[in-house]
Amino acid sequence: MIVALCLTLFMGEGLLNNTMYSVDDCLFCNIIKRTIPADIIYETDEIIAFNDINPEAPHHLLIIPKNHIATINNLDAKNSFIMGSMFEAAVYLAKKFGVTESGYRVVMNCNADAGQTVFHIHLHFLAGRNLTWPPG
Ligand code: AMP
Ligand code: ZN
Repeated sequence: MIVALCLTLFMGEGLLNNTMYSVDDCLFCNIIKRTIPADIIYETDEIIAFNDINPEAPHHLLIIPKNHIATINNLDAKNSFIMGSMFEAAVYLAKKFGVTESGYRVVMNCNADAGQTVFHIHLHFLAGRNLTWPPG
């Protein structure tokens, strides 16, 4: 308990959420704080959406909560409402890009086997080409 408290004080909640870095070092928290630049396309009180730096489709954005949540495993009864906000943002983006009828994909990766590389949950929004299935 004391160790956990010390870790929280010195490292931030990120370490206790199975990440290898503190919230201060979280790439996406820094994009939210504007200390790291990103091409932010949409923002509400709860989420931001910005262009993926390595796009896999003509429209590839990441929708993220402003609160740091490391992985899907860290969702619970108190914070899972944010998933609704993230999907509402996806619907907004689909309308913005005119793909509501042609189609789009939203996907979240969780931990190593799914290829999660940034440990701040993010909904990938992909559109603008025919997306094959299943993904690799
Ligand atoms: P994942 O592999 O699901 O964790 O997705 C992480 C995504 O973040 C990848 O698609 C990366 O291309 C993207 N990414 C990494 N760094 C940045 C950045 N600085 N700005 C925008 N997207 C980024
Ligand atoms: Zn973060």
